[in-house]
Amino acid sequence: MKLSIILCLATLTFTQVLATENNQEFTYPGGIYVKEISIDQFRNGFYYLDIKVPTLKKNNSYYLLFGIPRDINPDTKEITLKNGEDDYILSFTLKEKSFGKQYINISKKFTDPSETVIDRIITEKNILNSARNKWVSSNIDTDFILPVIGQISGVFGTDRFYNNKKGNYHNGVDFAASTGTNIVAPSSGIVLLTGDFFYNGKFVYIDHGMNLKSIFIHMDSIKVSKGDHVHKGDVIGHVGNTGKSTGPHLHWSVTLNSVYVDPMIFVNNRIIH
Ligand SMILES: [Zn+2]
Repeated sequence: MKLSIILCLATLTFTQVLATENNQEFTYPGGIYVKEISIDQFRNGFYYLDIKVPTLKKNNSYYLLFGIPRDINPDTKEITLKNGEDDYILSFTLKEKSFGKQYINISKKFTDPSETVIDRIITEKNILNSARNKWVSSNIDTDFILPVIGQISGVFGTDRFYNNKKGNYHNGVDFAASTGTNIVAPSSGIVLLTGDFFYNGKFVYIDHGMNLKSIFIHMDSIKVSKGDHVHKGDVIGHVGNTGKSTGPHLHWSVTLNSVYVDPMIFVNNRIIH
């Protein structure tokens, strides 16, 4: 009896959170801004600086999803998109968000790569960039599941210091798990690229549709190939410790309109319901 009351209260609180988030006129760095649009606007498509902005249809309504950069100018109040030939202005209030710090000791080969390795890094960066510009026109399922069962060991947005030197902020979420643990697709999509790169190690890059993408890195093995269609829950590979990694874990990043956002936003159906 007591337990059921607690569960009811928990459900109520969660529903209230969802309601607030769906009627949002606010967003925050590393978050997303969801806006209902008309069917005509949906058909015309949205772009920001020539980058595809994801749109989707759900329950006969249409939405655009705009990724807010983690390092956006806090004074930003609006962003102008292109909808077909027309300008479309997204207005919002930015809430403040603070991100923590994480200090990591790592092999010097990652912080001071040799000349040969620098050539490799540049080549691999170009390959990733060309995949970044591709997207597939399929409806997005924003109700993601977790890609792995593990302990969260790194959250989105943290300032990272490698061997006490400031590096890029952490652009995804880390799950510590044993080598060989299954990694599944959190939502359906098309595999844009797989590979074994210097920093990423073994990775799988998926477009969930309309330029909403996930990348899974540091894998031990890869079970899909470029061009494969994956369904939510399909095994795409296994947890490992390849590339710039200090122990077995999965790093998962999500981008929309080519902006990194917190992947956990998409878990537990918190986007549109
Ligand atoms: Zn990570």
